[in-house]
Amino acid sequence: MNKQLNQRMQIAIDMPRQVDEEVAGDIEKESVFVSPAIDRIIVAEDGKTATVVLQDRRDVEAVMDKAARFLDVMAKQVSGYEIKVFSESVRKDEGPYQKDVNQGLVERGWVHDYGSGQVAYNGPVLKLAQLINEKAAELYAREFKAADGHFPAMIDADTLHKCGYFDSHPNAVTFVGNMIEDFDAIEEFRVANSCSEGAHMPHRDHVHIDGMCLNPAACFPAYPTLKGKRYETGECFTWMGRVFRYESRNISGLDRLYEFNVRELVFVGSEDYVSDVRNRSVPLVSELAAFFDMDCKLQTATDPFFATVSAAKKFWQAAQEVKNEIKIPVLDAEGQVKTIACGSINLHGNFFGERFDIRDTDEKPAMTGCVGLGIERWVLAAFTHHGFEPDRWPEEVRNRIFD
Ligand code: ATP
Ligand code: ZN
Ligand code: MG
Repeated sequence: MNKQLNQRMQIAIDMPRQVDEEVAGDIEKESVFVSPAIDRIIVAEDGKTATVVLQDRRDVEAVMDKAARFLDVMAKQVSGYEIKVFSESVRKDEGPYQKDVNQGLVERGWVHDYGSGQVAYNGPVLKLAQLINEKAAELYAREFKAADGHFPAMIDADTLHKCGYFDSHPNAVTFVGNMIEDFDAIEEFRVANSCSEGAHMPHRDHVHIDGMCLNPAACFPAYPTLKGKRYETGECFTWMGRVFRYESRNISGLDRLYEFNVRELVFVGSEDYVSDVRNRSVPLVSELAAFFDMDCKLQTATDPFFATVSAAKKFWQAAQEVKNEIKIPVLDAEGQVKTIACGSINLHGNFFGERFDIRDTDEKPAMTGCVGLGIERWVLAAFTHHGFEPDRWPEEVRNRIFD
């Protein structure tokens, strides 16, 4: 990594103001969206300077200006938020955390990594993913009488716009393109590919993007289906959602995919109902972690909003404590412990109720909230906790996932 960095041009830049570790992490993650000429921006440990790693040397001045503007808006975020921990689970397995899990799963033939943030899996990985999904669904059915549902993987731009996604995460959207309905254009595309070695993409003018997108957050497709509902108390819905986020160069293993699966719970109704479901979902997270015998913390968090709106939206989120993350430890490439968010519990206030005409019996917009569990991250974390040998796994899990 360092060697590769050394071959690239690096420019040090002062941070407009000192930032903490959390903000530094966000800056590094979002920095892949600053300019095609920038590989990444790394904030120094003291939070006072940053290194801009350039991919090419053209227009360095303009590129650095862009980097400075990006850092300016990102550093406006308040550093030093107190992180509150709501619950903590500790595993019984005393073995060491397993290193290089992604690689180990690929070597065993249980995961195929396509290299673009997509994975195929089978054997114990598939069975574990299914078990995590099933177990969560079972807890939601038991506790909230949430019935299982199904939603499409594509979503239209108007719905995404209504959900506020373009305002919050415009960098992560994937638009679906189709060939124009034109005999000659389609024939040209066919001919170009009929004997070619690699794929030839159609001419830009021959593709139309009409607003169909790949769904970037599991709960969005549920809200249009609730239009016109009037709640006296409330209702819970759960399903396995297919989620797509354009993570650019941040994709890595099962941790940061382009396409992943989320077991979602959506709760909608009165303020009391929604806050009750939210509170009762906290011990369920601990129950799930205990079932798979994993270390886990549930703590306050904020969303990785796009740079220009980050400071304001994060401030609101942190102040209201509306987002909690399920943090589970894994090992990084150097074998150091880091935690990843394996899920989040979110309160949305009456935002979706208002936008999608979901109300209480007094015609006031209903409150909503959701819990999303990132299935592939749970898989990565579970293999990190118990390794590849069946005997370290909890018996009930072992019997289900290993033959
Ligand atoms: P992060 O902070 O890691 O970017 P997030 O806060 O944007 O994630 P949420 O919007 O809360 O994530 O999504 C719900 C869950 O989906 C996350 O807690 C995580 O488990 C999972 N998830 C999010 N992005 C990815 C991804 N790119 N690959 C795999 N799982 C993901
Ligand atoms: Zn959600
Ligand atoms: Mg997060």
